[in-house]
Amino acid sequence: MAFCKNCGQELPADAKACPNCGTAVDGAEQVKATVEKVSKTADYTNQFDPQDIQDNKLMAILAYLGWLILIPILVTPAKDSPFVRFHVNQGLILFIASFISGLLSVVCIGVILEIICFVLMIIGIVNAANGQAKELPIIGKFRILK
Ligand SMILES: [Zn+2]
Repeated sequence: MAFCKNCGQELPADAKACPNCGTAVDGAEQVKATVEKVSKTADYTNQFDPQDIQDNKLMAILAYLGWLILIPILVTPAKDSPFVRFHVNQGLILFIASFISGLLSVVCIGVILEIICFVLMIIGIVNAANGQAKELPIIGKFRILK
């Protein structure tokens, strides 16, 4: 959350001025608020078995590493792990998004999308390595696997 530097009022993500005292919000604070809004995603970690998470972190990380996603999809017992399936789902969407970005990379927007995909990949790997089942920003809402 961003706060007004004058009165301490909590600021909405897109606020240009403090709703309480009217002090102008500077660019850095606006960016900070927007980043926090985007990166605040649903966290399902407590719905997973801690033992499952502990045993399958590495497989969950593989879900974000391009073609290596085939390992957690195909290899038992990883493919039966709910924690791994959560990350495989995110990894698959990211894989498809990266593929489309690659096709579009002849134009500027494709390069931007590739950078976004790369950042999401890093976030996904960090989440998996920390044993968290958090949705990725932007693409996290989509589900391919049940
Ligand atoms: Zn204020």
